[in-house]
Amino acid sequence: MARRPVLDLSECTDCEGCIEMCPEVFKRNPAGYIEVEDLDHYPEVCVEDAIRSCPTDCIVWEE
Ligand code: SF4
Repeated sequence: MARRPVLDLSECTDCEGCIEMCPEVFKRNPAGYIEVEDLDHYPEVCVEDAIRSCPTDCIVWEE
């Protein structure tokens, strides 16, 4: 199983930085929250950029 990014919504400030950095992985769902797409493989560099750009450090890799 490949690792995937997860985000802690309780810390998310809704800044959309992750969507800007990595729109193929992060999106806004119909309920209005940021979520991670279900993918077989996640683009490492792009997710790392999103992790670095997140102002509240609420995105982490889950093994
Ligand atoms: S970058 Fe972080 S704080 Fe901003 S929308 Fe994404 S998860 Fe939320």
